[in-house]
Amino acid sequence: MSALSTSAILLRRIEFGDYDLIVTLFTEAEGKTSAIAKSAKKSVKRFPGVLEPFSKLNVVLSKGRKKGLPILQEASIEDPFFNIREDIVKTAYASYWAELIYLWMVEGEPQKQLYQLTVHVLSELNRGEIPVEVLSILFQMRFLSLAGFRPNFDHCHHCKTCLDQIKYATLVSDPSSGGIACPTCCGVSRNGGVKISKGTLKQLIWTNNKDLDRAARIRFTPLAIDEGIRFLEIFVPFHIGRNPKSLKVLRAIRKTIKRKWKF
Ligand SMILES: [Zn+2]
Repeated sequence: MSALSTSAILLRRIEFGDYDLIVTLFTEAEGKTSAIAKSAKKSVKRFPGVLEPFSKLNVVLSKGRKKGLPILQEASIEDPFFNIREDIVKTAYASYWAELIYLWMVEGEPQKQLYQLTVHVLSELNRGEIPVEVLSILFQMRFLSLAGFRPNFDHCHHCKTCLDQIKYATLVSDPSSGGIACPTCCGVSRNGGVKISKGTLKQLIWTNNKDLDRAARIRFTPLAIDEGIRFLEIFVPFHIGRNPKSLKVLRAIRKTIKRKWKF
């Protein structure tokens, strides 16, 4: 039997039998790892208040020689990110990011840069100084780069005109080509394209070019936030080939809150 001690983010947990939980962790050392937490259900309280979604933990996992899930031997909290679970909007965004990671990652493949990015955006989400939408744009843009799906904003995918030389202020995104199309060419590309202005594209490019702390402090205009969120929430699911259930919930919550602000 071998043991692994590592930092980890709890991505999801499901009940297993009468007493146990199966947890899926994003571990720093080995990437996505599912494990069985014996006697972890609330009635038994072997890990009281520890196995909460998005918590940053220190875990000890043991792996037997036989096939089967590793066993979660110990779990202690490094950072509970308590403010996230106290806020419905923050919870909805964190659930969406966690599901993207869960759907895209393969068990047992370390992704240290993605791990650092995830810890960074969850810390900032918990702190609450940066707007949640900006954090979501930052997370999704950098996630796309790390996952090898970085969008190409250099030129129109069809006529190859460079972004700076396109004379229109608004372009159309083209998820299937992995980039953008100018208005002259956008009739060719109608696969889930949304309007996106040049200004927004430039702000999206900056999220990848600067270090994480500086990137999170880019001042997005309200238009860039709207366009960036719309674009990314189509582009990212398209490229990972899955529709996250949590995105539906996130959209519904956003709609309700916008309606509340109006009246
Ligand atoms: Zn074009």
